[in-house]
Amino acid sequence: MEQFDVVVVGAGHAGCEAAAAAANMGSSVLLVTMNMGVIAQMSCNPAMGGVGKGQIVREIDALGGFSGIVSDLSTVQFRMLNKSKGPAMWSPRSQNDRQLFAHIWREKLESIPQVHFRQDTVTGVLVDKDPSGKTRITGVKTGLGTHVGCKAVVLTNGTFLSAVMHIGEKQFGGGRAGEKAAHGITEQLAELGFVSGRMKTGTPPRVDGRSIDYSVLEEQKGDEQPGKFSFSEETTLPKRQLSCWITHTNSEVHDILRSGFDRSPMFNGRIQGQGPRYCPSIEDKINRFSDKESHQIFVEPEGWNTVETYINGFSTSLPEEVQTAALQKLPGFANARIFRPGYAVEYDYFPPTQVTHTLETKLVEGLYFAGQINGTTGYEEAACQGLMAGINAHLRIKEKEPFTLGRDQAYIGVLVDDLITKGTDEPYRMFTSRAEFRILLRQDNADQRLTPLSHQIGLASNARMLRVEQKSKYTKDLSLALCSESVSPEIANPQIVPRGTEAIKQKVKLNSLLLRPQLGYVDIEAIAPQITDLAHGFGALREEVAEQVEIQMKYQGYIQKERDLAERLVRLEHVPLPAEMPYAQLNSLSIEARQKLSNVQPQTIGQASRISGISPADISVLLIYLGR
Ligand SMILES: Cc1cc2nc3c(=O)[nH]c(=O)nc-3n(C[C@H](O)[C@H](O)[C@H](O)COP(=O)(O)OP(=O)(O)OC[C@H]3O[C@@H](n4cnc5c(N)ncnc54)[C@H](O)[C@@H]3O)c2cc1C
Repeated sequence: MEQFDVVVVGAGHAGCEAAAAAANMGSSVLLVTMNMGVIAQMSCNPAMGGVGKGQIVREIDALGGFSGIVSDLSTVQFRMLNKSKGPAMWSPRSQNDRQLFAHIWREKLESIPQVHFRQDTVTGVLVDKDPSGKTRITGVKTGLGTHVGCKAVVLTNGTFLSAVMHIGEKQFGGGRAGEKAAHGITEQLAELGFVSGRMKTGTPPRVDGRSIDYSVLEEQKGDEQPGKFSFSEETTLPKRQLSCWITHTNSEVHDILRSGFDRSPMFNGRIQGQGPRYCPSIEDKINRFSDKESHQIFVEPEGWNTVETYINGFSTSLPEEVQTAALQKLPGFANARIFRPGYAVEYDYFPPTQVTHTLETKLVEGLYFAGQINGTTGYEEAACQGLMAGINAHLRIKEKEPFTLGRDQAYIGVLVDDLITKGTDEPYRMFTSRAEFRILLRQDNADQRLTPLSHQIGLASNARMLRVEQKSKYTKDLSLALCSESVSPEIANPQIVPRGTEAIKQKVKLNSLLLRPQLGYVDIEAIAPQITDLAHGFGALREEVAEQVEIQMKYQGYIQKERDLAERLVRLEHVPLPAEMPYAQLNSLSIEARQKLSNVQPQTIGQASRISGISPADISVLLIYLGR
């Protein structure tokens, strides 16, 4: 039997990151996927990032994953969302060339010698029971009858497990348009004691761009000075961009959609799985918000060299003729021709309270779950889980300490902790509001937060680490210079007064001017040539360093407050809860707490405190039991 260190099942966003991470750290990896023609497929919209998600892509990049680099190399439009709000909310988003994205991911994987590929369907895992009764992974079996041996398996089956697609009254087995469903794994895992559930997601129709009248649509251009995701020098800023477009639904569109409700699998009970609350179908939107007369629809290009267009906001599983008729009532769409109809897909997932912080399952040693299989939705959420599972599968095999991230360290830490502690019964999507320390977890400082940690475990390269060290040094140098250099009223006032801030009456330190809300770092350079000279020496890092210094100085008070709070909570994180805690016998705990703690088996007091339904009184009981 062929042997590998790690077998990754599925080459979606989670699987690609898992395979790359484990292999780049030194494991031999077999990536088994049903169809090698669709590696790293963007199943739904061709876009990466967005609110809460853009932060995750930057964190993946800082840790040495590839999603940021691949996004940059396939960007057709870049926008920094929420720029009018504080920097904790700034969220990068790219529109991507769908085919290029997939093509570059495959190239990246093929460039890693330790990643091996196999087109096949995994139908089950191979396990062994040791004398103590522990179940351990030993390999996988496939649809072609092959057995492959390994020390760890990462399951990233996405929307494919026992999947059923719906368009109106039609139903087909399949995980994505044109692709088969995967059978066998859910049934076998259930035999091993796992619990599964059912979820649903949907996608809008793709339209022939030649049939759209863009002259009546509102144009949405990319940023004038576009950014990028990757902190590395492997990618450059976009030189050209495509526009997206905006149109709106109206009462005619709504009436046509309503006429198909009796044939909608959403409303006639054929779809049982829970759908994504924050990405509802158009029929769900007009049903739930019946008083709303119009919904915004984004018309997005699918790539540089195609007329295919993605109709963002029009996700639907209504009959195809209803989709066409409704679409043709949108302004600019009178002659619209559909390339591919929208559809919904229902699939199995495994409630994520069955995995630990490393994403290893509690029931089977060496078996990891990552991505949509854990009840999440979105490429970014999947990719970061794949990265964490790949890293930990490798570390486990090498008998090294696991690698986990706290809620105060990364959005990835928030996501994993939410999943494993609270579980989820609807597709989980990241938002900035899920992170209690979002002023610390900004997209701009992901490299400084995470690259040193990843370098320590052998994933982030020396070149990346060096760049972060340089950035930190330059940031310090610039801050010191701003705090020590002064400017006179004669030089400062002609520049600052027109900005709407008060004139200064005597010499002041430059940093005191930067604290004024009307002034930015560019104003300081304009009045302090010595600062410009210093900044010249930062080379390619000049803009990043200036941004860092400006954010750190302007938001210093808030940042410090969150840091203090985070430190206090981290102390609770360091109070471990023994694996054999007799929760059921602790009568002072509420019945709900006894059940939930036994179920989740939190590893620390901090984790226990975040389980929904666990009260401060329950935490006191645990602390008293532990003698604290
Ligand atoms: C129709 C549709 C609509 C969606 N809509 C949205 C949306 O609106 N918003 C949003 O954020 N996300 C949406 N998504 C979800 C998004 O595509 C996923 O969150 C993301 O792709 C999950 O990544 P993943 O790596 O977990 O799985 P996937 O990207 O689904 O990849 C799974 C991979 O595993 C392979 N595979 C599965 N089972 C096996 C097996 N047994 N053996 C071998 N290979 C296997 C598949 O071939 C595939 O390559 C949608 C997905 C679909 C299909």
